[in-house]
Amino acid sequence: MATAVKPDFDAVVVGAGFGGLVMLHRLRQHGFRARVLEAGSGIGGTWFWNRYPGARCDIESMEYSYQFSEELQQDWEWSERYATQPEILRYIEHVADRFDLRRDIQLDTRVNAAHWSHAESCWTIATDRQTVTARFLVMATGCLSSANIPDFPGRDSFAGKTYHTGRWPHGGVDFTGQRVAVIGTGSSAIQSIPLIAEQAAHLTVFQRTASFSIPAHNAPLDPEAVRKVKDDYAGFRAYNAAQAFGAHFSLPPVLAYGVDASERERVFEEHWQEGGLGFLSAFGDLLFDHMSNETAAEFVRAKIRGIVRDPTVAAKLSPKQVIGCKRLCVDTNYYATFNRPNVSLVDVSETPIEAITPRGVRVAGQEYAVDAIVFATGFDAMTGAVLAVDIRGTGGRSLREKWAAGPRTYLGVGTAGFPNLFLVTGPGSPSVLSNMVPAVEQHAAWIADCIGHLREHGFARIEADPAAEDAWVGHVNDVASLTVYPSCNSWYLGANVPGKPRVFMPYIGFPTYVAKCNEVAAKGYEGFALS
Ligand code: NAP
Repeated sequence: MATAVKPDFDAVVVGAGFGGLVMLHRLRQHGFRARVLEAGSGIGGTWFWNRYPGARCDIESMEYSYQFSEELQQDWEWSERYATQPEILRYIEHVADRFDLRRDIQLDTRVNAAHWSHAESCWTIATDRQTVTARFLVMATGCLSSANIPDFPGRDSFAGKTYHTGRWPHGGVDFTGQRVAVIGTGSSAIQSIPLIAEQAAHLTVFQRTASFSIPAHNAPLDPEAVRKVKDDYAGFRAYNAAQAFGAHFSLPPVLAYGVDASERERVFEEHWQEGGLGFLSAFGDLLFDHMSNETAAEFVRAKIRGIVRDPTVAAKLSPKQVIGCKRLCVDTNYYATFNRPNVSLVDVSETPIEAITPRGVRVAGQEYAVDAIVFATGFDAMTGAVLAVDIRGTGGRSLREKWAAGPRTYLGVGTAGFPNLFLVTGPGSPSVLSNMVPAVEQHAAWIADCIGHLREHGFARIEADPAAEDAWVGHVNDVASLTVYPSCNSWYLGANVPGKPRVFMPYIGFPTYVAKCNEVAAKGYEGFALS
């Protein structure tokens, strides 16, 4: 049922990170009028905001890039195995210029609300600058973009400077001569702590849960290895897309207890020397079997004991949970940093941070006086940025209300009751459990094709069917329950944000997911109602 009302745009895309940019490109390829609205003063999303010391990707550069243009992937030269934040941002800027994307991107514009009108089949989108209408609304707001700063008592009373890793000042921060506190020991902390320690007079790290981290062994890229990838970039991408996590490591058929202890040790050592997230692919069952997982966990704990000289500190730094359950970290000199005389570790697992005081951080009655506090406390992951917008669907029902007990989506891309709303890498899609760039590209292409299909067949609306959504939510949970992932307090479960419902959000299995999306499209968008 086509509608007479002509909105300002065919589609409004919220967010100008990796997802929003390729979404715009794909929509344009279909000839749609699209506008990207971005709260930041620049493009880049994650890579615009996260400028803390040591910020770099922990997926390898040759994979962490777009594949929609063969010329682009042939032309661009990455310098290191793991690209730094400035290099990734330069790449994003290059893509925006090369594909002339900027003219449809409006910066410094925060979207506050989006309300659906069924009669007019369009969204009215209210920003802090204007109101626009669009037939389709695409939330490309990122999975890890809504900064989480715990509500510590006295948080605002601190007299010194405070920073969140995900909102880092553009001019950088000079910690020379300062006493610095870092709260948190996730990926952002693990990357920044070694560099902050080199500058600060003293660094105190407040750790609630110890993290497993694998050495990055970062290095300049070997031109020969780059040439091999570029000789068959499409083949390289296809191989990666066929792996469970959509990245360049495959889960082997060999199980941890399928070999003897010395062989296991040898394989773990080989993977440790190789470095990076591929450590979890040492054996095929590390993420499925708790006993097997424990062999990998103990291997890393032994490494920590070997690196950290003070046995008490080493014990505190040794994680107790299963490895990979919380997002695995990748580091350069993280554990060794605790051998420095100017670094101390405060374990807040048993005795939480009591308060932020004007002079510092208080734990168990003891005040740690500092000049600056770095909150490396993560994000309201996967749902935070979407729910920051007052999204109202059919009958004025709010998405916050619908997702009060946890997000519910069909394929992580649509949600029943919210016609013509698309989520790029929403909860229920592989997203954070895959390589994010191919994941956003797959969604952008699928969404643009879907909107193209609607136009071609004279439909004005698409909406996830509640039964298909229920089945998908059940399936996401069933798959997760076969793995070790639900067994710890991770942001995958929303467990890092007090009061957030505990629901496992990402879908595990990139190739299965892509096949399902393709099948749904081939069947005329099965599980969606088109009208
Ligand atoms: P995170 O992994 O959620 O880590 C937050 C840290 O803050 C955790 O150690 C957490 O402890 C701690 N924390 C939170 N609330 C606290 C409280 N009330 N008291 C004490 N400690 C508290 O966040 P992140 O390090 O920013 O990383 C988020 C994700 O972004 C990563 O997992 C990764 O996917 C991505 N990332 C990637 C890269 C990369 O590519 N290299 C770099 C940075 C981030 P608990 O564990 O006890 O909750």
